Amino acid sequence: MTLQTKTELVSGHCFQQPICFSGQQLMWAGESAQDWMARSEGSACYVYDMAVARRQVEQLRSQLPDSFDIFYAVKANPNPEVLSALEAVVDGVDVASIGELERAMAAGFSADQVSFAGPAKLVDEIERTLALGGHLSVESLIEMQRVISWANHNQQQVAVGVRLNPQFQLKASGMHMGGGAQPFGIDEEQFADLVALVKASPLVSISGLHIYAGSQCLQLDALVEQFRQSLLCFKRLSEEHQLTVTKLNFGGGIGVPYFPNNKPVDLVEYGQAIRSIVNEHQAFVVDKSIILELGRYIMAEAGVYLCQVTDVKSSRGQLFAMVNGGMHHHLANSGNLGQLLKKNYPIVVANKMASEAAERVTICGPLCTPLDVLARQLEVPKLDLGDIIAIFQSGAYGLTASPNQFLSHNSALEWVV
Ligand SMILES: *Cc1c(COP(=O)(O)O)cnc(C)c1O
Repeated sequence: MTLQTKTELVSGHCFQQPICFSGQQLMWAGESAQDWMARSEGSACYVYDMAVARRQVEQLRSQLPDSFDIFYAVKANPNPEVLSALEAVVDGVDVASIGELERAMAAGFSADQVSFAGPAKLVDEIERTLALGGHLSVESLIEMQRVISWANHNQQQVAVGVRLNPQFQLKASGMHMGGGAQPFGIDEEQFADLVALVKASPLVSISGLHIYAGSQCLQLDALVEQFRQSLLCFKRLSEEHQLTVTKLNFGGGIGVPYFPNNKPVDLVEYGQAIRSIVNEHQAFVVDKSIILELGRYIMAEAGVYLCQVTDVKSSRGQLFAMVNGGMHHHLANSGNLGQLLKKNYPIVVANKMASEAAERVTICGPLCTPLDVLARQLEVPKLDLGDIIAIFQSGAYGLTASPNQFLSHNSALEWVV
């Protein structure tokens, strides 16, 4: 079997790591798409190739100073086998619910590798996290009062982090979960009130600062600027309030190329820029752990979603291919997970990799709503029933970010290699 590779599709979509095919067949995680479909016995499926995720982590790590920790944001893909595989390669996890915390610990992460941030934590979630010894990012005055109550009640020392909503705001696409009025974190302007509360409580201290400014950012200058501004904010607040923080969490947000002409972030340039900022502030960062918590960057490209053509029909001159998958499995790909513009993901006919495009088709799932569209006006080889549609960049914010119960269809299967 001779393998060929592609780093770009004719549609203008590109990949960070090449995809492989043999003759007409897409190969994924060591098997053909046809074999994965056969195994799935009529269900659509996700296949995650953890070698790709490992390489993503290694490529980023190799560009960053040794003192950096790379955390995995569980909400991107909480599959238990995915978490187990990542346990060996990342330094910790970002979780946003007690359920995610439990999944991470079941996969082998220890409580002290867990950072819990989330905008509406339940009292029970706060208390269980503290009891386990996980690291909390507190996001409001009331949350801090709950931490203090727990510490007093249990007569136990607690060190927590604080998630900030900084004053700075970045206009870049993807970067819009910090600055302005936000339900996430506590405004920088209110930080003094939070510190006053903590200073009156001998059992509680602030040991970490955290800013998560947004997701899916492909602009190098915006990512670097976000890092610089966050560091300046951490430094300013630590000095102003004489805090001894040991953890600085810079959030996630490195994007992946989903759409035509998207280019991946140049990690060499990113690493150089980050190093120079860190060097500039060496005295402040030297004794602290610096955390990046990434979801999409680590998992998106590791996952492909596969489904099969069940019907082909035309309507008033347009061709429609119906498939056994849809937005109930893959909401993000249908363009309904917050996207403003509905553009096609990188998509191929996985059993016709060497064939020329011959027709334009709109690919639709089985849900009775016009939203259930997996690709619009996609150029494909002549389609036949049973052809396999492969949607790349599907490993993050896929199955568990989709309305699985809507219309009571079967779930997609997940295979982890
Ligand atoms: C979702 C989330 C992340 C991960 O974001 P990505 O864009 O997937 O890297 C990191 N930190 C927090 C607090 C999050 O909510």
